[in-house]
Amino acid sequence: MAETITLRKVTKRFSGNTILDNITLDIPAGSVTVILGPSGSGKSTLLRCINHLEKLDGGTILIGGELVGYRQKGQALHELGSREIALQRSRIGMVFQQFNLFSHRTVLQNIIDAPMLVKKLSRQQATSKARLLLRQVGLAERENDWPQQLSGGQQQRVAIARALAMDPAVLLFDEPTSALDPELVGEVLQVIKTLAHSGITMVIVTHEIGFAREVADNVVFMEEGKIVAAGPAHSVLDDPQNHRVRHFLATVL
Ligand code: ADP
Ligand code: MG
Repeated sequence: MAETITLRKVTKRFSGNTILDNITLDIPAGSVTVILGPSGSGKSTLLRCINHLEKLDGGTILIGGELVGYRQKGQALHELGSREIALQRSRIGMVFQQFNLFSHRTVLQNIIDAPMLVKKLSRQQATSKARLLLRQVGLAERENDWPQQLSGGQQQRVAIARALAMDPAVLLFDEPTSALDPELVGEVLQVIKTLAHSGITMVIVTHEIGFAREVADNVVFMEEGKIVAAGPAHSVLDDPQNHRVRHFLATVL
């Protein structure tokens, strides 16, 4: 089931530099949010904070009302143990620019490993679910292939199937088409489109503005670790008042 994501005054620093600067954002359950912004503005760091890959220096993140990485006791916050963190993370899927498939595991193995290990599915259960997902991403015939036998677009579709195999409440995409040859971008965007509004909260960092217009409910524009514009996709993308967004759109189109 989809969950809300709530960021409250989120701050992240790396060696004294403020990378995320007091970010407050509400992402409704089941919605699609596209994050735009120039390189270095903190987009990946924001996703990594939501997915427990970075610790915050200030503020809180909640998913479905549950604090990410902490338990609240009275006024105090206690860090979760590794098992509790693993449990929280099992509900968050992430798709990376570089696919990150395990190169020594077949397509099928890439998809069934985590559900068997973390969700304790039997091999048979995990396999039949993986086959459904492979069909959904248009790769039903490729389950025994090795990742390197597939094109970049096909590898990314396997990575999406792998994320879906965990039944995530939240799915984060970090520039899922930026590493692809132009002719392979469309097939991956098409798969992502079919997932929109299907009961998963989706946050997508991308420079594909046409895709954002078509699929996003909300668009967030970041610059230097701050949110400089956020709101319904059309009002952010078409707001002639916002010269920073306009300037950015002119550079990516
Ligand atoms: P974006 O995804 O918008 O391009 P990032 O979130 O990757 O931006 O990076 C934002 C800034 O944080 C950059 O200046 C980057 O160099 C810095 N940064 C990211 N990760 C680290 C890290 N692990 N250590 C130090 N600096 C980092
Ligand atoms: Mg990035």
